[in-house]
Amino acid sequence: MRKVVILGTGPAGLTAAIYLARANMEPLIIEGNQPGGQLTMTTEVENFPGFVEGVMGPELMDNMRKQAERFGAKFKRGWVNSVDLSSEKPPYKLQVEGLGEIETEALIISTGASAKLLNIPGEKENIGRGVSTCATCDGFFFRGKKVIIIGGGDSAMEEANFLTKFASEVRIVNRRNELRASKIMQDRAKENEKITWSLNKTPIEVLADESKVTGLKVKDNETGEEEIIETDGIFIAIGHSPNTAFLNKQVNTDQTGYITVNPGSTQTNIPGVFACGDVQDSKYRQAITAAGTGCMAALDAERYLEGNAVHDWSKTL
Ligand code: NDP
Repeated sequence: MRKVVILGTGPAGLTAAIYLARANMEPLIIEGNQPGGQLTMTTEVENFPGFVEGVMGPELMDNMRKQAERFGAKFKRGWVNSVDLSSEKPPYKLQVEGLGEIETEALIISTGASAKLLNIPGEKENIGRGVSTCATCDGFFFRGKKVIIIGGGDSAMEEANFLTKFASEVRIVNRRNELRASKIMQDRAKENEKITWSLNKTPIEVLADESKVTGLKVKDNETGEEEIIETDGIFIAIGHSPNTAFLNKQVNTDQTGYITVNPGSTQTNIPGVFACGDVQDSKYRQAITAAGTGCMAALDAERYLEGNAVHDWSKTL
């Protein structure tokens, strides 16, 4: 039996690990198939406080991990296939591929969210070479350049407006004539002179030379005509999916699948089960906000464990 298991190694999970390890709670952290989370897919992070000259995403995550290990946090690689929270009281059982069954008194879910991709040729292989799923992270690198935003929701509108601070031209490509975004967000984008529009066009291929993206091939949904839009960067803003499939609906979520927590805390509807980071945040989705909620989850879990220390933790994994 473990005192506390943390699922996920993005900024939320690693911050929770640092706090819990430092509080002698001996956390076990299970890292899935993308250790370090979404930040390992970006290059330079310039808006994480404390790094005057910025820091590379993978380096930031590596440092957080080492910091947690310094205080005794244990990391194990494994894929959580399922959890059993049906008793609504600990011990909770996790079935982890490669590690077998793990029992724990408290559970912190920080499995993050994944940006949805289009799954078109040229897309995945050019992430970091002009294809991005995060305007806030990568917009700065497109100063004076032409960029495309794909999507017609609030994220696409917001990111398009944000990108006009850097790019010389921002083109929104949407698969329908109508936009899904709220009227106010649409109006803001429409009023922005740097934004141009390609509506009713389905993206079919990302084009690139040996080093970077050069264009996007789209198909007009009415005429079937194909066209190449030249660009230096392609931002995909077609939504995110929280990584919660393994929970099998045992934890309450909102309509879009994000875990709901009690306001001002990280407590889910199940006692001793906490959620932090992007898996419970569809709004801010920043490394620093994820780290902040990771800290909250650690403090919530610590208080919970102090009040519920009824199990024998001596048989550790
Ligand atoms: P949404 O699901 O609202 O919009 C996704 C957009 O991407 C839609 O235009 C959709 O087209 C398009 N899309 C989806 N899949 C594909 C695909 N395979 N190929 C091409 N286009 C595709 O996601 P958002 O991330 O924009 O927003 C998520 C939530 O967050 C919303 O509730 C939003 O209101 C909120 N939000 C709020 C903000 C704010 O208030 N400041 C800022 C950002 C987000 P289609 O319409 O045809 O399905």
